[in-house]
Amino acid sequence: MEYKIAVISGDGIGPEIVREAKKVLDKIGELYGHTFHYTEVLMGGCSIDVHGVPLTEEALQTAKESDSVLLGAVGGNVGNSRWYDVAPNLRPEAGLLAIRKGLGLFANIRPAYLYKELAAACPLKEEIIGDGFDMVIMRELTGGLYFGERYTKEIDGVMTAVDTLTYNEKEIRRIAVKAFDIARKRKKRVISVDKANVLDSSRLWRKVVEEVAKNYPEVELSHMLVDNCAMQLVMNPAQFDVVLTENMFGDILSDEASMITGSIGMLPSASLNEGKFGLYEPSHGSAPDIAGKDIANPIATILSAAMMLRYSFDLDEEAAAIEKAVEKVLSMGIRTVDIMAEGCRQVGTTEMGTAICEILVQNK
Ligand code: NAD
Repeated sequence: MEYKIAVISGDGIGPEIVREAKKVLDKIGELYGHTFHYTEVLMGGCSIDVHGVPLTEEALQTAKESDSVLLGAVGGNVGNSRWYDVAPNLRPEAGLLAIRKGLGLFANIRPAYLYKELAAACPLKEEIIGDGFDMVIMRELTGGLYFGERYTKEIDGVMTAVDTLTYNEKEIRRIAVKAFDIARKRKKRVISVDKANVLDSSRLWRKVVEEVAKNYPEVELSHMLVDNCAMQLVMNPAQFDVVLTENMFGDILSDEASMITGSIGMLPSASLNEGKFGLYEPSHGSAPDIAGKDIANPIATILSAAMMLRYSFDLDEEAAAIEKAVEKVLSMGIRTVDIMAEGCRQVGTTEMGTAICEILVQNK
């Protein structure tokens, strides 16, 4: 098969880690008979340097005409970069919001998986970690409190700030469908997280999620209040498979879930639209402090490419091959500096990508 991928290398370590993800995709193409056509798109600081804005209409159009988007990261050193001496809507990160909106990406998926070999980096106690955990947080990305009406004004002589949390049933249904679709490919359990004991929006959320669940009899649904979920993530993370939740709860819970894996350079993410189209990127930022040194960990970006194969192209076998190669590279003790441990061999960004490609060849 042939696939068109818009590639946004971005800023900082972006170009280095994206280069390695493309190397792995090309190896998959060679081994499994696919061709990936890449079109480079500027976004973030590098787009500001050339066009004066973080994302041009043409760049967005190129992304729209592709089958999916692979993104490194955007942004510079916030305290010390000319990109930040401008209005917030002209800064590098504004490109992210614009592209998510322009592409209609409403479903954000962030897996939190504990690799046995990296268990020492997990801040949880051994008896809690047990055999590890493997969950995805499915967060609604374009509704709720972050997008509702807001204002600050004096009311009866007192300064008052108002933020509005709005969800309609269509917005809830489409994200719930995504969560159940993904659960069907995994351990077939959805935990829907809300605050239905207090919020109207959560009560509607619960009702619509239950309606959607009827179409997925093979998937088990349960509900959890968000405060309890925050506790359960650090008390018994193994109980979670797919966690379905609204925008702000998901923002907080997905950061909590990624922290308990203990390794920021390992965490991929995907943002999907109503169809198969998605934008795939590591969960970390552009790490300007280590850019250009060939020491960044490319694995989060390589695993994001694996998510692209699974969720946008339905290439489950190829995605699993990448994930297995990553596990193998870790079990062989090959590590970038951020996940280095005693007795392991330290490699740079390029060598890590090459090692994963070699394992793909050996495993085929
Ligand atoms: P960051 O994630 O870039 O870096 C945090 C720390 O983790 C740094 O010490 C960095 O060296 C390290 N790190 C991150 N990724 C790594 C990797 N792959 N391998 C090894 N070490 C890694 O977060 P930050 O420093 O808060 O932000 C830096 C810039 O990135 C800012 O401009 C911020 O706005 C931007 N940012 C962009 C995105 C995105 O593009 N989606 C997301 C978050 C932050």
